[in-house]
Amino acid sequence: MDKNGRIVKVAGPLVIAENMLGAKMFDVVSVSEKKLMGEIIELNGDKAYIQVYEETEGIGVGEPVFPMGEPLSVDLGPGLIESIYDGTQRPLDKIYEMVGDFITRGIQVNSISKEKKWKFIPLVKKNDIVNEGDKLGYVQETTLIKHYIMVPPYKKGRVKEIKDGDFTIEETVAVLTNENKDEEIKMLQRWAVRKPRPYFEKLSPEMPLFTGQRVIDMFFPIAKGGTACVPGPFGSGKTVIQHQLAKWADAEVIVYIGCGERGNEMTDVLLEFPELVDPKSGEPLMKRTVLIANTSNMPVAAREASVYTGITIAEYFRDMGYSVALMADSTSRWAEAMREISGRLEEMPGEEGYPAYLGAKIASFYERAGRVKCLSTEDREGALSVIGAVSPPGGDLSDPVVQSTLRVVKVFWSLEAQLAYKRHFPAISWLNSYSLYNENIKDFIIKNVAEDYFDLQGSSMRLLEEESELDEIVRLVGVDALSGTDRLILLTARMIREDFLHQNAFHEIDTYSSVEKQYKMISVINYFYIKAKETLQKGVDIVAIEAMNVKDKIARMKYIPQEKIASIDEIKKEIDNELELLFKNI
Ligand code: ADP
Repeated sequence: MDKNGRIVKVAGPLVIAENMLGAKMFDVVSVSEKKLMGEIIELNGDKAYIQVYEETEGIGVGEPVFPMGEPLSVDLGPGLIESIYDGTQRPLDKIYEMVGDFITRGIQVNSISKEKKWKFIPLVKKNDIVNEGDKLGYVQETTLIKHYIMVPPYKKGRVKEIKDGDFTIEETVAVLTNENKDEEIKMLQRWAVRKPRPYFEKLSPEMPLFTGQRVIDMFFPIAKGGTACVPGPFGSGKTVIQHQLAKWADAEVIVYIGCGERGNEMTDVLLEFPELVDPKSGEPLMKRTVLIANTSNMPVAAREASVYTGITIAEYFRDMGYSVALMADSTSRWAEAMREISGRLEEMPGEEGYPAYLGAKIASFYERAGRVKCLSTEDREGALSVIGAVSPPGGDLSDPVVQSTLRVVKVFWSLEAQLAYKRHFPAISWLNSYSLYNENIKDFIIKNVAEDYFDLQGSSMRLLEEESELDEIVRLVGVDALSGTDRLILLTARMIREDFLHQNAFHEIDTYSSVEKQYKMISVINYFYIKAKETLQKGVDIVAIEAMNVKDKIARMKYIPQEKIASIDEIKKEIDNELELLFKNI
């Protein structure tokens, strides 16, 4: 009997084939002689429902379907870094070189070069006993990343042979013996994308992932291994935030998944990213980045695959002991792909037409984040932080994708159209956003940054909250009706907003603030508040305080370069002097 399936129906990205007995869920198939890549997402009797990752136009009933006998998987090994992939790990840059702008259907290109030779440096000796996850050796993949070759999960043994020299990813670099069976280890591993890579133990995130973005680090911090959601309407700054994080977050490896929002947006990312410079090393940022891009001319189903492809690659680097940050922009496009496929499958729709399992899928994606003790006999930790942008229609936060995401992530950076409209960037609302990591990272911050870090966070936040209450009164009766103390609250809150929270991503210095600088800045503002309040109580008029010269100094703190941040402390003396002068003059 014919082992191939036969197409009985084509509905957009969904193809139904019969004669598919023996095929398994999530197996990859090749559809028609054109060899379009697809994945089985439902089985019913001998019928398989296939999500096709390429345009199905011109594919018809009766054409064959070839089971590939393997679930959707990625290639893992040296050569990943600096790659630009589509959702199914096809290298976009190489395809572009071959065929130009539009991906030709059915094209097959290796995800990682199988010809390139890498210098493998062994880290074990003959007769060593090694376990799953143990490092056998490494390859200096880029100037920034050492790519460790690990014993693949579920494998172990005695090192029978270990190589030293230049090899391709398909050549054997080690031979392990286990129960008299030899196992050849190559640098190339494959992993099914829908299956999380194993680790020894999940640990609670305790280290902050500093991002250099003041509103994030000071007010709504994320931990290494943590999860965050950035919902916001079109134009509110989701992409800029994600780029800022890719550039500045203190992660060693970046995986960026872009699901095109506007027609040409992904092309922008493709052009922009390779230009970005890693601020820490001065090298191109791509030297520690893997980029996954779904351009908008690609079918929606590929977006569904891209988040899994991305997170699997990210987990692989986590397993080497790196701190990895994954950004997905935007997960709404992924959810829409789920909705489209679910509709084609004629499943019972849930909220807004999204499938009922939307929440479960989103949760299982973010659950792959975490700080972990890696598989290995060596005591090794890795962290995978996941930051997902969501673009709900009209910025409506009751959107099912936003709500499902908020149920699982621990940080919420709420971008607001109103702030973006007023050009307050990053347009992260200080009243609606939150972080549940403050407790986790407290010890680290207190030990390494400053003891009163969280006190300053708390008092600054209170001032902002009081400001928003006072704003109501000001709207009704005007600012003159307020007491001096209340006007001082308004004055200080304004400093927090304009001189601290506002941060220009495109300003050479302001684009990044070290956590030390952030701390100094916020303590100056708090110092101003405390001292001005004392002076006010001694009888100085608020109008005089509002006109103080030192305000300009405070406004310019953000432009002080890192090597001069000690000078920020001196502003406190100027505050004292000027207030004293005001007091003397009454
Ligand atoms: P979205 O992805 O939400 O549609 P973008 O990230 O493209 O929005 O941001 C829209 C515009 O807002 C940017 O082109 C830029 O001009 C401005 N912007 C956003 N964030 C910042 C920032 N931190 N600093 C300066 N400008 C910003």
